[in-house]
Amino acid sequence: MTKIEAINVEYYQVPLAEVLSDAKHGDHTHFELILMRIRTADGFEGVGYTYTGGKGGRAIFSLLNDEMKPLLIGQDSTEIYRIWDQLQWHFHYVGRGGLLSFAISAVDIALWDIKCKRINQPLWKVAGGVSQRVNCYAGGIDLNFSEQKLLDNIQGYIDRGFQAVKIKVGKTDYKEDVRRVEAVRNLIGPDVTFMVDANYSLTHEQAIRFSRAIEHCDIKWFEEPTIPDDYLGYAKISDATNIPLAMGENLHTIHEFTYAIAQSKLGFLQPDASNIGGITGWLQVAQLAYANNLPVCSHGMHELHVSLLASQPNAGYLEVHSFPIDQYTTRPLQIENGKACVPDLIGTGVEFDQTLLNPYLILQS
Ligand SMILES: [Mg+2]
Repeated sequence: MTKIEAINVEYYQVPLAEVLSDAKHGDHTHFELILMRIRTADGFEGVGYTYTGGKGGRAIFSLLNDEMKPLLIGQDSTEIYRIWDQLQWHFHYVGRGGLLSFAISAVDIALWDIKCKRINQPLWKVAGGVSQRVNCYAGGIDLNFSEQKLLDNIQGYIDRGFQAVKIKVGKTDYKEDVRRVEAVRNLIGPDVTFMVDANYSLTHEQAIRFSRAIEHCDIKWFEEPTIPDDYLGYAKISDATNIPLAMGENLHTIHEFTYAIAQSKLGFLQPDASNIGGITGWLQVAQLAYANNLPVCSHGMHELHVSLLASQPNAGYLEVHSFPIDQYTTRPLQIENGKACVPDLIGTGVEFDQTLLNPYLILQS
């Protein structure tokens, strides 16, 4: 009765309200959303999903629809970890992270949705059940904004109740980044938490020079100063400045996180359930973080991560991302006194509003 009986895959391109830029990916005009609907013989439906910054989504759709769907039909939906492991090894030769991790994430989230619905509980409780409120910050994608627009944008976050903000850095002349960081700190005052993110655009030398130049601005973390594969380079940068380093959105297997923890001297881990193997993969990283006395944070899809952070005792900061996926759900993220509130919905807490999403449907199985 708990067998997987039917699967539907949907691919959407959702436009952003304005063009958003960072140092390495250039302009974002839309994000891609790939939905995986799994139905069981006893009538449960789970919805899983992953997203991209606008590229690669059709390949993920194909992995889910053409490669994984035939393998999944008939399997027991309650055997989540076995299915997760099976998908890892079945496609390992062409995967080992990358697009494969995005596709597995969508499957895994759908199965967790079913698991929660089957026992009539919300995800934050099923995954651990620690708190109903989590620290959060507004993550701007704002490198293309003029300084005035940057400040207006940050003021908008403060007006919405955020008590922590992050901006992009990685301008051609690092002195312009320093001026922008100083201007934001000046605007928000000493009590608002402040992070910066270079989207892995800098060399060691550039990262160290910049980090030292903003040490006086009380920066919570310096995110992705250089390429994510350069584990020892992170350690070198960390040794040279007093700002803690953060990364994780570009680490797509538990093994990459293991290397990063061992070698990179990170202060914060930022796994993303959309590309680390779903809820199963995110929880693996959370436990690895716990064992290494590190806070676990998140990247992207805040409508889901709010429940995951709320499930863990070592929760750090939820990123409230500039891709507003939550605006296409029945329950957009709620902020109270600077903290994000868990949805008390049965399942993952993410229910898409099809009337809002349907206009952006491109492909479906
Ligand atoms: Mg980032």
